[in-house]
Amino acid sequence: MELGAVELRQRKLRADLSATTASQVNAIRRTLLSDVPKLAIEDVEFHLGPIRDEASGKDYDSSTSMFDEAIALRLGLLPVPTDLGQYRRKSECTCKGEGCVHCQVMYSIDKKGPCTVYARDLLPLGDPTLATLEPEVPIVRLGARQALLAYATAVLGTAREHAKWQVAQAVGFYPKAEVKISKRPGCTESCLKRLAETSPSGLLEWSGGKLTYTGGDDPEKALLLVGSQRLCEHGSLEVKLDETHFQIRFETDGSLSAREAFRYALKDLKRRFEELREAVQALP
Ligand SMILES: [Zn+2]
Repeated sequence: MELGAVELRQRKLRADLSATTASQVNAIRRTLLSDVPKLAIEDVEFHLGPIRDEASGKDYDSSTSMFDEAIALRLGLLPVPTDLGQYRRKSECTCKGEGCVHCQVMYSIDKKGPCTVYARDLLPLGDPTLATLEPEVPIVRLGARQALLAYATAVLGTAREHAKWQVAQAVGFYPKAEVKISKRPGCTESCLKRLAETSPSGLLEWSGGKLTYTGGDDPEKALLLVGSQRLCEHGSLEVKLDETHFQIRFETDGSLSAREAFRYALKDLKRRFEELREAVQALP
């Protein structure tokens, strides 16, 4: 498999993969979707009973308009920056699952109403760079005399367990496609005009007595014309798919960069095949 043109941004990647097959690229897609780990909030401990504001001496109710479970779910879905070199799963940690600086990150929320609690109010205990990447997400609205005091713990997980641990989104891949236009014997101008008029997203243009394709080299656009081929029975429009050459693209939620997520997925696939190879080698 070969890597061709790449468009790489912090949270986005688009890459050409050639000399490959759809199943190989699909294996990468599935690994990106479900096996790349990241930190997400897993446990939330809510303070129950009255909450006193020491400064004013005022008492607040530890209740809000939402169930605690709903607030916990919202916190779980917030993207948290993740350094995979620094954290490991609780079950694989030297603390034997008790929780330590290598396998969990603690946060606190302490807000008193009336106000709206935002994601930015979730404060990491310790390293401030672990604050959530989407600070403007509203979590819950507090009325007068209502307060929210909670401690949250983020741990590593993968989307196989819960979607809140899903790093990559909108993962897709498309075969490279070439659009060929040449007026075949028997084909008429009105036939070509009809192709232009009916083409999805105006991808075919009729001007100066010529039919042209306007989709550039975006394989997604070329694929939209697959159905249009039938409209000219003479074969003047041809969409040729290359089943050995694909474009894969995805975005991340920011917890990992697109590059880190892609590299992790490839390493994970390699590790799994390596395990299989060793198992085969161990056969009598
Ligand atoms: Zn630990």
